[in-house]
Amino acid sequence: MSAKIPKLMEIDTKEVFGFIVCDSYTNDLAGRLARHIDQDQPVDILTIFAINPNKVILAAKDPQVTDALQSAGILVPDGIGVVIASKLMGRPLSSRIAGVDLFESLSLQLGQSCPVFFYGAKPGVAARAAEQLKAKNPDLSIAGVVDGYSGDEMSIIDKVNGSGAKALFVGLGSPAQELFINRNANLMPCLKLAMGVGGSFDAISGEVGRAPQLAINMHLEWAYRILSQPARLRNSNLVAFCIFAAKQIAKTRAEGSQARRG
Ligand code: UDP
Repeated sequence: MSAKIPKLMEIDTKEVFGFIVCDSYTNDLAGRLARHIDQDQPVDILTIFAINPNKVILAAKDPQVTDALQSAGILVPDGIGVVIASKLMGRPLSSRIAGVDLFESLSLQLGQSCPVFFYGAKPGVAARAAEQLKAKNPDLSIAGVVDGYSGDEMSIIDKVNGSGAKALFVGLGSPAQELFINRNANLMPCLKLAMGVGGSFDAISGEVGRAPQLAINMHLEWAYRILSQPARLRNSNLVAFCIFAAKQIAKTRAEGSQARRG
């Protein structure tokens, strides 16, 4: 287990399912990240991944995924299941941080000194997301855009390196995006930050609709996504997560009461 959050960022964390998860709020975290990238001195690349019930199960099945998630500088709780589990384990996270909201909030705070590179989604989608973000933040500098279905890994790395980007956002879905970043972050020395953004390019471009705000506020975005794209249910690992979480919560509680008795 590791937490490589740069000390200066002063972000709280909680341990959930053996992962060190960021305990913060979307806009606060985005502001800290924007300041972190904007500093003049060279910094090690900061990787940001999200954790949700599906990824907890993918990690339980595949050590490479565990490794990638544990190597993250910042792991954000993008999944109400993880937040609820943290509370039941007695290590409560303050808030869910939806990856798409963090990505958008960060993009709206970046200036011309922090060019960004978007990699992922179907042809044209990330470019449309870039247009949408630029309409809201004219200072956002788009260093490059590549879709997630063309080009080999080395050519993408060359493009990022040649672009002058300081932040890379990768939307290939999980675990592909986490494995891509984990494998290649050190090959892109121009970067100060690399973040896995899942389906964010789809959501921001309007390619795929987000849940109504009420459903988001009620923490039911996951249910909306399954209802609007039923094929997701098969890959959601929902049942497996409930069983896994129930066992882990019972174990953590038993250890807690044993420690109190002893
Ligand atoms: N994707 C991609 N290349 C691939 C497979 C998927 O770029 O080979 C993209 C896909 O078009 C979508 C994103 O990865 O934009 C995955 O979105 P999803 O909502 O499934 O991600 P999640 O947030 O659930 O991980």
